[in-house]
Amino acid sequence: MTGVVLAFALVPMSSVGQDLPRWLRTIVFLAAACAIGAAVRWLVNYLRAGQHALAHAQQQFRTAFEDAPIGIALFDVDGRFTEVNRALCEMVGSDRERLVGLGVLDHVAPADRPESLAAFRELMVGARQTFHTESRLRRADGREIWCQLRASLVRDAAGEPLHFIAQVEDVSARRRAAEALAEAEERFRLAFEGAPIGIALADLDGRFLRVNDALCEITGYTEAELLAANVDLLGHSDAADAEEEQFDQLMRGELRSYRLERRIIHATGRSVWVSLSVSLVRDSSGVPRYCIKQLEDISDRKRFEGQLAYLADHDALTGLYNRRAFQRELEQRSAAGGDGGAVVVLDLDHFKDINDTLGHAAGDEVIVRVARLLAKRLRKTDVLGRLGGDEFAMLLAGVSRQEAERVIHELLRVVREQSVVSDNGHPIGLTASAGIALFDGDTPLSAEELLVSADIAMYDAKEAGRDRHAISVETEQRQQAMTDRMAWSQRMRDALEHDSFVLFQQPVVDLQTGLPKSHELLLRMRSDAGDLIPPAAFLPIAERSGLITEIDRWVTHQAITTIAEQRLAGRSLKLAVNLSGASVSDPELLEMIERDLEAMAPPRGSLIFEVTETAAIVNVDRARAFAATLAELGCELALDDFGAGFGSFYYLKRLPFDYLKIDGDFIRQLTSSHEDQLVVRAIVEIARGLGKRTVAEFVGDVETMALLRELGVDDAQGFHIGRPAPLTELFAHDLRAHGLRAPAIQA
Ligand code: GH3
Ligand code: MG
Repeated sequence: MTGVVLAFALVPMSSVGQDLPRWLRTIVFLAAACAIGAAVRWLVNYLRAGQHALAHAQQQFRTAFEDAPIGIALFDVDGRFTEVNRALCEMVGSDRERLVGLGVLDHVAPADRPESLAAFRELMVGARQTFHTESRLRRADGREIWCQLRASLVRDAAGEPLHFIAQVEDVSARRRAAEALAEAEERFRLAFEGAPIGIALADLDGRFLRVNDALCEITGYTEAELLAANVDLLGHSDAADAEEEQFDQLMRGELRSYRLERRIIHATGRSVWVSLSVSLVRDSSGVPRYCIKQLEDISDRKRFEGQLAYLADHDALTGLYNRRAFQRELEQRSAAGGDGGAVVVLDLDHFKDINDTLGHAAGDEVIVRVARLLAKRLRKTDVLGRLGGDEFAMLLAGVSRQEAERVIHELLRVVREQSVVSDNGHPIGLTASAGIALFDGDTPLSAEELLVSADIAMYDAKEAGRDRHAISVETEQRQQAMTDRMAWSQRMRDALEHDSFVLFQQPVVDLQTGLPKSHELLLRMRSDAGDLIPPAAFLPIAERSGLITEIDRWVTHQAITTIAEQRLAGRSLKLAVNLSGASVSDPELLEMIERDLEAMAPPRGSLIFEVTETAAIVNVDRARAFAATLAELGCELALDDFGAGFGSFYYLKRLPFDYLKIDGDFIRQLTSSHEDQLVVRAIVEIARGLGKRTVAEFVGDVETMALLRELGVDDAQGFHIGRPAPLTELFAHDLRAHGLRAPAIQA
C-alpha cells in the first residue's frame, strides 16, 4: 500500500523514460514504488522487532538483577546508591526508595569504613580493578552482619568513571560457624596443652601426632623428640601383651576405651608408673582413625602403695618381717608335704631394765643389733621376724632337732657376748631365752599353733632361769596351755567377726561443773554361758597373738558409728577409746579412722584416743606421728597411766597430747598419802604449763574428789562418779530431756 501511494507521488515528478510510452512508464514506476514500499515496510518491521528485543532483554536483565540471590548495588562516584536489588534491601533491612540516594559508607560498620574508602579510591584511580573483602555491614536497625563484598568500577567508552557495582553476600552464618569452630578448637587446644595429665593423639601404630606439655614432662622427652619417634616410645615389655589384647578389642569395637596401669621408660632410662587411658576416634563411617592416649604419672601413689605394703609386712625399727608376714610365711612353709623344720621364739631377758637404765633409744639400738646378729647367722632359706617388743621369731627350714638346738645354742651365745654398757661404764648383761617347736612334713599343727607352741616353750625357758632354750614337748599340761590359748584366740576372732564383743562405758566428769564430759569405752566379752568376761582374761592373749590391733580397730569403728548414730538422734556424745601400743604403729587403723570419719562425719573433738604412757614411749616417733595425724583429723589424745613409768616428764614434752590421765596408783590413797598429793600437784602444774588437761582415775569417794578439785585436777573418773555400765544403757532412758548429761555430781 505504501508502495502504491509512493508510486503515484513519484510518477508526476519523474522525468525518467520520457521517450517510453506513458502506460509503460506508469507500470515501471508502480513496480519501483511497490519495491520501495516493501523495503520500507521490511525496514520498519525490522526496527520494531529490534525495539521489542531490546525491551525484552532489558526486562530480563531487570528481573535477574531484582531477583538475584545475592545483594547487588550500584552507586555513583560520590558513593551514593543509585540502584539496589531486593536481596540487598533485605540484607540492609530497608527498601529501595529509602536507600537510593543514601551514602554507601553509612551502611558499612565504622571499623571497616577506612578499608572500604581506600579501596574505592584505588578503583577510581585505576590502581586496582576489583575490590574483594569481608566486612561488617550495618543494617538499618543498627545491627551488624558480616558480608562478603566484591566491587568494581564501570567506566564509559572514554574511560570516564560511570558508577560502581557491588555484589554483597551475607556470610554471617558461615562466620558464626567458623568462629564457633575456632572457639571450639581453641578450647580444645587450651585443654590439651594446659591439661595436668599427659595427652597424645597417636596413629594406629602408636606414633604420636600431637602431644601436650604434661606428656613431655612425664616422659622427659621434648615435643619434637616425641613427634619424631617412629615407634611407640612409651612401650614397656612387661605390659605389652596385656595392652595388645585390649587394643585389639578396642579396634574390633568391643571396648569403648581401656585403662591400665603400667610402667613407661623415661628419657633418663628410669621407669615411671602411669595410669594410661586409651580411646579410639573413628570417622563417620566407623573406620578407626587415631587414638587419644591419656597418661597420668602415678609413681608417687605406687611408691606410697609400695611403702604401705612394705609397712604392712615389715617392722619399722628393724626392717624384719612383722608378726603378720612371718605368720604368712610360716603358713606357706609348714603346709603339708613340706620339709618340716623348727619354729623358734626368742625373747630378750629383762629387757625392760635396759630401757629403764639406758633409755628407750639405747633399747632400740639393742633390738636392732640383735636383729642383725640373728639375720647374719640364719640361712637364706630360713625366715626371721620381729613379733613385737624384744621378741623375735624364726623358721629354721628343714632342720632336725639337733640342728635346731645347735643353731639356737649358738644364737644365744652370740647374744650373751654383746656388750651393753651403762652410762657409768658398767657392763649390763644381755641374754635371751628361746622356745623351739619342731614340725615335720605332716604336722597336724597350723602355723599359728606352731608359733603358740614355741612361745609357750619360750616361757618355759624363762621360768627355768632364762638365758637358755626349751623344746616344746607334748606334755598334757603344755597341750592344755596351747589349747587354751588357741581357744581364746578363736573366741576373739569369732567375737570380731560377729560383732559380739560388748562395750561398756564409764563417765568422766568435769570437776568444776560436776557434769559428764566424755565416756571411756571398756571392752568385755560374753562367755558361752552368757557371763561377762573382763578384759584381763583375754587382752594379754590378744596382745601375744597380734589380734589386739584388730580389736582396737573394731572398738574404734564402733565408737565412731555410735557417735554418728547418736548425733542423728539429736544427742551429742564424746567417747574415749583405749589403744594398745601395737595400734600406735598400725597404718591400717589410721586408714580406717580416716575412712570412717569421712563417711560418718562425727563432730570434731567427739573422739578421744587413750594410749598408755609406756606404749607411747616405746615408740615415740611413731606415737608423735600418730598423734599429729589424729589431731589433724579432729581427734583428741590422752596419755593414760601417766606417772607410772620412768621418764614420763621427759617424754611429755615430745608427745602432743590433750589430756594426762594420772595413774590410779597416785589417786587411790590420795587423801592419806602426802607423797601422792605432791606428785599430783606436780603433774597438774606441768600439765597446766603445757596447756593440757588432767584427769584422775580411780576416784572412789567424795573426799578424794574434793581434794582433787583443790589440787587443780580438771576431770575425774571412778566408782564414786560412775561405775562401768553397758554403753547401750546410756541411751536407754529418754535422754532427750537431759541430753546425755547425768545429774551433776557434787562433792
Ligand atoms: P622378760 O625377761 O620376762 O622378757 O622381761 P622383759 O623385761 O624383757 O619384758 P618383756 O619381754 O615382757 O617386755 C619387753 C619390753 O620391751 C616391754 C617394753 O617396755 C619394751 N619394748 C617393747 N617394744 C619396744 C621398742 O620398740 N623399743 C624399746 N626400746 N623397747 C620396747
Ligand atoms: Mg623380754
